[in-house]
Amino acid sequence: METREEQLRKSMVDYGLKLQGGGLVFGRLGNISVRLDEKHMLITPLGSVFTELLPQNIVIVNYYHLTYRLSAKPSSECGLHASIYRARPEANAIIHTHSPNASVLAASGRNLPFVSDDVRKYLGGASRVADYAIQGTKKQNRNALRALTDRNGCFLSSHGTVVFGANIADAFKACKVMEDASAEYIKKEIMYFSGKSEISVRDVFALFAERKNN
Ligand SMILES: [Zn+2]
Repeated sequence: METREEQLRKSMVDYGLKLQGGGLVFGRLGNISVRLDEKHMLITPLGSVFTELLPQNIVIVNYYHLTYRLSAKPSSECGLHASIYRARPEANAIIHTHSPNASVLAASGRNLPFVSDDVRKYLGGASRVADYAIQGTKKQNRNALRALTDRNGCFLSSHGTVVFGANIADAFKACKVMEDASAEYIKKEIMYFSGKSEISVRDVFALFAERKNN
């Protein structure tokens, strides 16, 4: 019979494929973790590609000391995941991605005011942008925790998003809801400011460029 750890490792591989298949991650830009016990998390290895991820390559990390046993190194965002597990006991799975529409908002440094039923259910409300800090630093982790106050997801300024859930299925749903809500919000803004009912990615970038210059 499979142990809980084996089941969690397999679920991370499955959800990695779902993230990749659902267009929520590009190349090597994303990582997943799950809480294993009161001290340890399982996290995808450094530079891993979800389509090539194997259960045995997932790394166990102590989320208090950031120590790990295996020769494989954990994701470079290990500290961000660890800080969320330490601060948020309800978080049992975390996903960090650079999904396309959410990344546009993260790059623009703007909050997502759009609130649907799913946003309320899976993200806890409108998502904030964490103040900018260099990727992988303690400052980035602190800023993310602040933006995550009463929320299950936030934007990392000029970087991407981080979401969590009570389990990996909920974290995946939160990731998808954040991307879909971002797309919906961008579409509404573009339609409002451009007066167009059909919009393209080119329109999105043109509008953000124009507003940045004003
Ligand atoms: Zn990233």
